[in-house]
Amino acid sequence: MNCREFTEFLHEYLFGDLPAEQQAEFEKHLAECPWCVAYLDSYQKTIELEQAAFSAPEDAPPPAEAPEELVQAILHARSRAS
Ligand SMILES: [Zn+2]
Repeated sequence: MNCREFTEFLHEYLFGDLPAEQQAEFEKHLAECPWCVAYLDSYQKTIELEQAAFSAPEDAPPPAEAPEELVQAILHARSRAS
């Protein structure tokens, strides 16, 4: 298995859709290729973020990392309104 094949079957691997034989090939490649380990890691994080975004309730609080300018604009608008 090479890196290109690895990325092609990454999704199947993560969701357990690969035959055992191919899964073993995957793990063998992972053991010797730091690039694919890093790729797998970022791929998993992307999936987690997507799932978190889809499962977030409508009235969830805004993300903590709101841009500073936006925060200031909201605070400014509030102070004028009161
Ligand atoms: Zn690789």
